[in-house]
Amino acid sequence: MPESERILIVDDVPENVAMVSGILSRAGYRLNVALNAEQAIRLAQTTAPDLILLDIIMPGQNGFNVCRIIKDSLTVSDIPIIFLSGMDDTDTVVEGLMMGAADFVSKPFNPDILLARVRTHLALSQKTRQLQEMAEKDGLTQIANRRHFDDYLLHQWHSLSERKSSLALILFDVDQFKAYNDSYGHLDGDDVLRRIALEIASHVPGDKQLAARYGGEEFVILLVAKDLNSALKLARQIRSAVEQLQIPHAKGVGGVVTLSAGVAALTPSSENSSESLIRQADVKLYQAKQNGRNQVIG
Ligand code: GH3
Ligand code: MG
Ligand code: MG
Repeated sequence: MPESERILIVDDVPENVAMVSGILSRAGYRLNVALNAEQAIRLAQTTAPDLILLDIIMPGQNGFNVCRIIKDSLTVSDIPIIFLSGMDDTDTVVEGLMMGAADFVSKPFNPDILLARVRTHLALSQKTRQLQEMAEKDGLTQIANRRHFDDYLLHQWHSLSERKSSLALILFDVDQFKAYNDSYGHLDGDDVLRRIALEIASHVPGDKQLAARYGGEEFVILLVAKDLNSALKLARQIRSAVEQLQIPHAKGVGGVVTLSAGVAALTPSSENSSESLIRQADVKLYQAKQNGRNQVIG
């Protein structure tokens, strides 16, 4: 059985917490409780709940502040928030919804209606998450797609330009892949792309690195805060690992499927751009092809 979803209840009145907790725990949800704004923000960040039920009037910072901080956060802004408040005049409800809350339930509330809304927003947010994941993944290989890579590169470019740290990029291209398709068919070709993607991804486990399918038979790895030498080392390991897969390719280099790679590294500044990093790696990749393929140049 899958783990039940977790809900963070935020309310300064223990009797309210007890009542809401009773309803939600009987419905099978796991719960965390915060009795003030500071606790709420900390628990939202450390436990990453699936949904937050948020009171508005609390001593110290109120629920609106909590909502604003969560919606501004990079890591937890997607968590749906339902305001649960006795203050339900039109202006308050509209303000709550305008700042990004998913819903507003007035106190006193009907338990069945509260549960129905909780279920609806949990289901909606799960669907949104699935769609976001799909939008970032390449359908054939299941690794990151070009769109996600472009976003990630731009984001890292801006953040590293402030830290004066370097970004390294490896561009891989499968050798003689048109000939592979011509000899073995596109379906077997697709299978090769999946195996190569899996091999590349298995070498890129860290969270400051991203492996993606860049185009047809081209793959890319972005290494954050790494220099040219460490990128070259990784590129060589992957080139060798793919050769070791020994996927037969009669017209390939040495009779098996191989990769060529171009590697570049740059420290982001106002004199260069993320495109120059890709362009440099592309030039090196072209040299690797010219030199006879199945090699890494940086
Ligand atoms: P080179 O060594 O110079 O890179 O030669 P190449 O044949 O690999 O390069 P070229 O750019 O001529 O051909 C790339 C081939 O990749 C052609 C295209 O059919 C194939 N390809 C691109 N995307 C896919 C795909 O999703 N599936 C399959 N099976 N083949 C693909
Ligand atoms: Mg190509
Ligand atoms: Mg190719």
